[in-house]
Amino acid sequence: MAVDSILSSPLGPPVCEKDAKALQFIEEMTRNADEVQEQVLSEILSRNAKTEYLQRFHLDGATDRQTFKSKIPMVTYEDLQPDIQRIANGDVSPIMSSHPISEFLTSSGTSAGERKLMPTIKEELDRRQQLYSLLMPVMNLYVPGLDKGKGLYFLFVKSETKTPGGLLARPVLTSYYNSDHFKNRPYDPYNIMTSPTEAILCVDSFQSMYSQMLCGLYERHQVLRLGAVFASGLLRAIRFLQLNWPELANDIRTGRLSEKITNPEIRTCMTRILRPDPELAEFISKECCEQNWEGIVTKIWPNTKYLDVIVTGAMAQYIPTLKYYSGGLPMACTMYASSECYFGLNLNPMCKPSQVSYTIMPNMAYFEFLPHDPNSNPNSSRDLPRKLVDLVDVQVGKEYELVITTYAGLNRYRVGDILRVTGFHNSAPQFHFVRRKNALLSIDSDKTDEAELQTAVENASNLLKEFNTSVVEYTSYADTKTIPGHYVIYWELLVKDSANTPSHEVLNKCCLAMEECLNSVYRQCRVADNSVGPLEIRVVKNGTFEELMDYAISRGASINQYKAPRCVSFTPIMELLDSRVVSSHFSQSLPHWTPERRR
Ligand code: AMP
Repeated sequence: MAVDSILSSPLGPPVCEKDAKALQFIEEMTRNADEVQEQVLSEILSRNAKTEYLQRFHLDGATDRQTFKSKIPMVTYEDLQPDIQRIANGDVSPIMSSHPISEFLTSSGTSAGERKLMPTIKEELDRRQQLYSLLMPVMNLYVPGLDKGKGLYFLFVKSETKTPGGLLARPVLTSYYNSDHFKNRPYDPYNIMTSPTEAILCVDSFQSMYSQMLCGLYERHQVLRLGAVFASGLLRAIRFLQLNWPELANDIRTGRLSEKITNPEIRTCMTRILRPDPELAEFISKECCEQNWEGIVTKIWPNTKYLDVIVTGAMAQYIPTLKYYSGGLPMACTMYASSECYFGLNLNPMCKPSQVSYTIMPNMAYFEFLPHDPNSNPNSSRDLPRKLVDLVDVQVGKEYELVITTYAGLNRYRVGDILRVTGFHNSAPQFHFVRRKNALLSIDSDKTDEAELQTAVENASNLLKEFNTSVVEYTSYADTKTIPGHYVIYWELLVKDSANTPSHEVLNKCCLAMEECLNSVYRQCRVADNSVGPLEIRVVKNGTFEELMDYAISRGASINQYKAPRCVSFTPIMELLDSRVVSSHFSQSLPHWTPERRR
């Protein structure tokens, strides 16, 4: 039933008064995008006028766009690192923000191999919460009856550390799930989840997943939507069910929780849920012991209307697998966010994944856009200096890199995301997420760039020296056919002494040596989250990379400028490489990882 027409919204008829207010807010923000942006910038600059950072650039209390743009430079994380380090070491003076830094959010982006530390302030939680509060009102426009059941969401926290100065450092979602906003959220019939908060807040990923899955199985008929933050997470949950259904079914049969679950909070809260249900146990066992898991999601959770997972950007690689397991359920990508700042939401969440566009909410931060020419050479001095464009001035069809100025004290900070404008909602632009700049390989939240891959290959190939062997060419591939996915590195070797070639064991060790060199997010995914599988080296026949070059040239590449691609995904190239594989090797143990930073 739609509420009073006074509250109706151009986005569609809201289902309740709360939704009407949220939709109205979206309308107001997007209609007045430029005014809101001007106001946001002025608020940020006036409250931070006395910060060391703004004083360093002699902003002298100015709060207008023009002065800001003429005096404040665009920066990357590396530029801010000395300031961030001071805050991490305990300097509480107003360096970047006039409000006290409440904690650090550890981004999945890395700098020198470690997660980036993003300073944040308390009130940012309210801003994040506000964006979350807009998601269901939009979804309710497209999917009716979500108040008649629940959401099965696999949500996780990760381990926390402290900086030398005593501030907490943890991922943004770990911070959010531990906040009162999440823990004491008011009852909302449209947003009830099967997972108990105690299960979400358990840092042990096995115990957390086990209990969330168990709750989801008990409530299989109530589940109307199924989700995780990223597609990789939802697939990990399906894999978990594949591996653990006998034990889960046993718990359901007996009504007793597995001994593997030792977390006292989980054990207590599960007593409210567990009950012997032999019929359900029988059903789960029957479905799960089938060889064919096609459409398993809709078999176990027959009332699921859609999957709520991000399948844009690097996650698009999981769409076919998700389709397979879900029997083609729609996939909703609802929001676009980061540790630095939450950006915006998808106003048409039931659209096809390839058509997802995010509308940036102008009240979240001050947004600027660096025009990005996909064909330009980043090192060319002939390129004209590019001027940053304001939110409302971006042009449809053009690509930009996102640059933000936040309440927490980032000024003209390059996020590293490339976005393409697809249209406007009122005066707020909508963006297709094109890609993360520099990310070559990604399976879960890990992102590995070309330089990191190069260092890892060099490090590993040191093990080949005693065999008088070197790596002459390499490329890589994110293999997501396995769950979890894993990195595959193709190596062409030059063996100078055929009587002393590196053994299978040595090449296995090369896999681990590469992993040891990769950044801490990769190693955390491998060790703590189990979301990335062992790295694989596939040795290809001599001459394979020359064939690759011939292929590229036959398709129009220039001989002079040809460089072997450092990452491949195009099927004919993959087929060529795979048909030339002479041996394949895997990492036999886990790389080193602890929550503490190495530096
Ligand atoms: P983090 O800083 O670890 O929270 O990661 C944030 C990054 O994840 C963003 O800058 C994007 O590169 C990526 N990301 C977040 N949301 C989306 C989305 N909806 N689609 C594609 N990529 C996303």
